[in-house]
Amino acid sequence: MNGMGILKGLGVTLKHFFQTYVDDIKYGGRKYIGNENFETRQGLKAQGAYTVQYPEEKLAMPERFRFVPFLVVEEPDHPDRAGHDWCTSCGICAKVCPPQCIWIVRSEDPVTKRPVPEPEAFFIDIDICMNCGYCAEFCPFDAIKMDHDYEMADYDRTGVGLHIHDKPRLSKPFSYYYDIAPTTAAEEAAGRGGWEHPDVIKEKKKSGQPVMDKPWHMLRAEDPEARAAAAAAAQAAAASASASAGPKVDMAAERAKRRQEALARHRAWKQ
Ligand code: SF4
Ligand code: SF4
Repeated sequence: MNGMGILKGLGVTLKHFFQTYVDDIKYGGRKYIGNENFETRQGLKAQGAYTVQYPEEKLAMPERFRFVPFLVVEEPDHPDRAGHDWCTSCGICAKVCPPQCIWIVRSEDPVTKRPVPEPEAFFIDIDICMNCGYCAEFCPFDAIKMDHDYEMADYDRTGVGLHIHDKPRLSKPFSYYYDIAPTTAAEEAAGRGGWEHPDVIKEKKKSGQPVMDKPWHMLRAEDPEARAAAAAAAQAAAASASASAGPKVDMAAERAKRRQEALARHRAWKQ
């Protein structure tokens, strides 16, 4: 019959409209208690329309979500390779990157001048990056991964560390990667044959040493002695980092300053 399609469509809209209020009453203030209620209302089983009050509320990111890449580094208190890069500066990611937005400077031994398998500098221009994930797919050392952090808007696009991410900005510990992508991290660890860097696993297997059966941050959490030693090591590392970092930068003031500079440039350009 003519018009039945329109009526059916309106019926679906009306159903969602009322379900929204039914769900609002059902959950009430509970939507803010624990992550479970909040995630259910955003998930496939949710009824009705649901408005996420961004930025106070945020959608839960699926594990496979990818934004800009970051570099995996060891924990600052790792027993064998504290703070060490997973990246060996092989350059494969820079070669496969379609818009060519990765630059790598390989380290060299100051005495022998022979190349050292870790990057001295690593840059990614995030304005050019198209979030394709090829770099993460092709890296043979699982050293570059796609991040879930999408809040990177800034008033100023110039300058290293802002939209051109440098090595300190790109580097994040393995525990961060495990938090955002536990299933993928476990699949990759099974493929490597352990939770450590592929080269470490190879060396350990060659010399008959046991490889870690869990990531270091989990082993540390299970063992009180290791935890105490780790806390001391982390404290010492933080103290030495803050001693060498110089005066602390007030990020809010820095952002306000950059905004004023950007506005001034914009006004000067318009005149
Ligand atoms: S991130 Fe991976 S692919 Fe890129 S240079 Fe480092 S080890 Fe090679
Ligand atoms: S995600 Fe794609 S575009 Fe971005 S750096 Fe990696 S390879 Fe390049």
